[in-house]
Amino acid sequence: MIKLNVAEIKKSLVDKKAFLYDLKPEELGLSSEEIKIKGPIHVEGDISNVGDVLLLKAKLSAEVDRTCGRCLKDLQGTTEAEVLEKFYLKGTENVENDAYVYESDIVDITEPLRESLLLAEPLSVLCREDCLGLCPVCGCDRNIKDCGCDTFTIDPRLSALKQFIKD
Ligand SMILES: [Zn+2]
Ligand SMILES: [Zn+2]
Repeated sequence: MIKLNVAEIKKSLVDKKAFLYDLKPEELGLSSEEIKIKGPIHVEGDISNVGDVLLLKAKLSAEVDRTCGRCLKDLQGTTEAEVLEKFYLKGTENVENDAYVYESDIVDITEPLRESLLLAEPLSVLCREDCLGLCPVCGCDRNIKDCGCDTFTIDPRLSALKQFIKD
């Protein structure tokens, strides 16, 4: 969990506190089933006192292991995310239920950081735009070899026509 002490910046308007971290996925509660992060998650940002709320701004980047959605080849990529969230003092009135709140002088920024990375990671990636994928018949990688399997599925109407021609 990543917690910031905001006692100082709460004292004066527009005061801000900058931070810089290299985090392990576990520190943001990220499991390898959710996202396969290699090396540290680089986090850079600040939290500022903008009056009735504290404003969290951060940029994250991490190297990620991915898999091509067509040929299943391992790929490496970089996920980059940006966070812009408000934190309300607990007990503030007229605040939405899902708003981030903090108590006294401690702001837990784990959840917005965690969420931003998960949202930034694409659901599916391709090794290249025109990846040929795996052969549905023999399972070989069609980018590497042309297995020549017959993957053409005949439209039933065409097959009736074929029959007709044969007769
Ligand atoms: Zn591929
Ligand atoms: Zn094949």
